[in-house]
Amino acid sequence: MNFNREATDRILQELAPFGARLVAVSKTKPAEAIRELYDYGQRHFGENYVQELTEKQDVLPKDIEWHYIGHLQTNKVRYISPFVSLIHTVDSLKLLREINKEAFKAGRIQDCLLQLYVAQEETKFGLYPAEASAMLDHPDLSTFKNIRLTGVMGMASNTEDSNKVREEFKMLRKFFDDRKNSHPACIHFKDISMGMTSDYRIALEEGSTIVRIGSAIFGERITTS
Ligand SMILES: *Cc1c(COP(=O)(O)O)cnc(C)c1O
Repeated sequence: MNFNREATDRILQELAPFGARLVAVSKTKPAEAIRELYDYGQRHFGENYVQELTEKQDVLPKDIEWHYIGHLQTNKVRYISPFVSLIHTVDSLKLLREINKEAFKAGRIQDCLLQLYVAQEETKFGLYPAEASAMLDHPDLSTFKNIRLTGVMGMASNTEDSNKVREEFKMLRKFFDDRKNSHPACIHFKDISMGMTSDYRIALEEGSTIVRIGSAIFGERITTS
């Protein structure tokens, strides 16, 4: 067994009352592990690296919904545009422009989330709330006909301090709530992607609609350096 069935069952049970979805984060895990969880019923998987994602997509069932959750470089967008379900990590207008261009070529409307920087750590990617606001107000945004902005994504600080984590999730939620139903670029807003193995329970309490969980399901990642 390449995944933890008990943990998966428990997480799914915990998500149900919140109506939140599970994205199983399968980065660094072999295709066979994904296949087993797929056979168990899971359809949403998250990957962080473009090449790894395309290799897995090639050999795995075509009804898997792939979520791109890693930092995305503009020159790699074209490899995932034909099939990726949701890109969680839009952090610049330049990237969005490229995603729009490639989605057009692929004949698709690409769902995307804006990645917001809410943690007090220098290592995380994302837009500061003010930058994200400026992006939403940018006149070019309405010309991106092959993009649908469906919400926001964020990562909390990697800390034992649950109050701090909660405050960061609250910031993300507030950004979302302030624009959903009021900003013209946010009419499709429906998702807040927040919460990982260590903090998904807090994220659910703070309004997460998508949790991204790896190690609790697949075990600790194999690190190669
Ligand atoms: C790896 C990763 C996750 C999953 O982390 P776990 O702690 O293994 O659950 C979630 N989101 C992003 C962006 C990741 O890179």
